[in-house]
Amino acid sequence: MEDKPTFLTRPYLPPLEDFLPYLAEIWESRLLTNGGPFHQQFEEKLRHYLGVGHVSLFASGTLALMTALQALRITGEVITTPYTFAATTHALLWNGIKPVFVDIRRDTCNLDEELVEAAITPRTTAILPVHCYGNPCASERLQQIADTYGLKLIYDAAHAFGVTVDGSSLLAQGDLAMLSFHATKVFNTFEGGAIVCHDLKLKQRIDYLKNFGFADEVTVVAPGINGKMNEFQAALGLLQLEHADRAIAARMAIDRRYRQALATVAGVECLAVATRVKRNGGYFPLLIGAEYPLSRDQLYDRLRQQQIHVRRYFFPLISDLPMYRGIPSAAPANLPVATSIARQILCLPIYPDLDLPTVDRIIDIVSSPQ
Ligand SMILES: *Cc1c(COP(=O)(O)O)cnc(C)c1O
Repeated sequence: MEDKPTFLTRPYLPPLEDFLPYLAEIWESRLLTNGGPFHQQFEEKLRHYLGVGHVSLFASGTLALMTALQALRITGEVITTPYTFAATTHALLWNGIKPVFVDIRRDTCNLDEELVEAAITPRTTAILPVHCYGNPCASERLQQIADTYGLKLIYDAAHAFGVTVDGSSLLAQGDLAMLSFHATKVFNTFEGGAIVCHDLKLKQRIDYLKNFGFADEVTVVAPGINGKMNEFQAALGLLQLEHADRAIAARMAIDRRYRQALATVAGVECLAVATRVKRNGGYFPLLIGAEYPLSRDQLYDRLRQQQIHVRRYFFPLISDLPMYRGIPSAAPANLPVATSIARQILCLPIYPDLDLPTVDRIIDIVSSPQ
């Protein structure tokens, strides 16, 4: 028990025997990819589950994001957050777009909407915020800014599977939203992703772009990429959907236990949660403040020594990586809140089959630092 290693996350998988009939069907039909029957079913069921207009499935979240930028013909400069996973801004560079970094809010770790306007230039074409840890961005205000300046609004919603605000999906916001179904995410298809959009014509263009731009056998309408989700991934996705609510409920039980136990520990701050939001328990971020007897890195080492594999997520900031730090907006002086959060953040293990005695052991270590 004491030595059982604990990970930041552990991919949820359904019982193997439940997946075998799907595999048998793929082997029998020899339909492996290119919008086969499982792909069609999964796209439709996912659309219903998420309560959104249109879904286009992808082989990964990164391919979905790269295609999203192409679909909306984004060029020039895009305003985004330094406090995210590398894929967010890498997708901009792969499209020849310059990221412009804007600082984040301390309460949500999301792009600070009140700093966006000052970063707009004649070359700005879009805003790319991230719903970090599934915390909703200030979407109304961001949409208002986008409308005022004629900008597109694209959400990296890789953390936001199943999150709702006042009962409606967070994924319905903006021009489109990207999802990731990577193994480490709340919902996985080994690798995978999707774009959510609200306009059938836009979905059509996205679907052409993810298949080399083919509209039919002889018509190529755009220089597309190969971003297609295959039948194995789609079949797994169909089965995973049946377990999604239970997996999220198990994560949220752990979230509540951590939150309750750590609320009274001096120097440790759990991020506040908005009451209108139905969360997904994807991450459990903590801020380790100056009053805590250990530094963030000392606590990180102590947990690691006890086989508890916590992560400093997100650290380092994207704006500090070699391919970004030369950009003027990447200067730490421009990003004081993100810089300070990246030094304080620690994400605790959270996944559906993390047992409660282990959660309590982690709580004990964090709450008795002496
Ligand atoms: C996981 C993740 C991605 C990339 O998704 P993949 O499916 O791994 O390609 C992009 N942005 C954020 C914020 C992520 O966490």
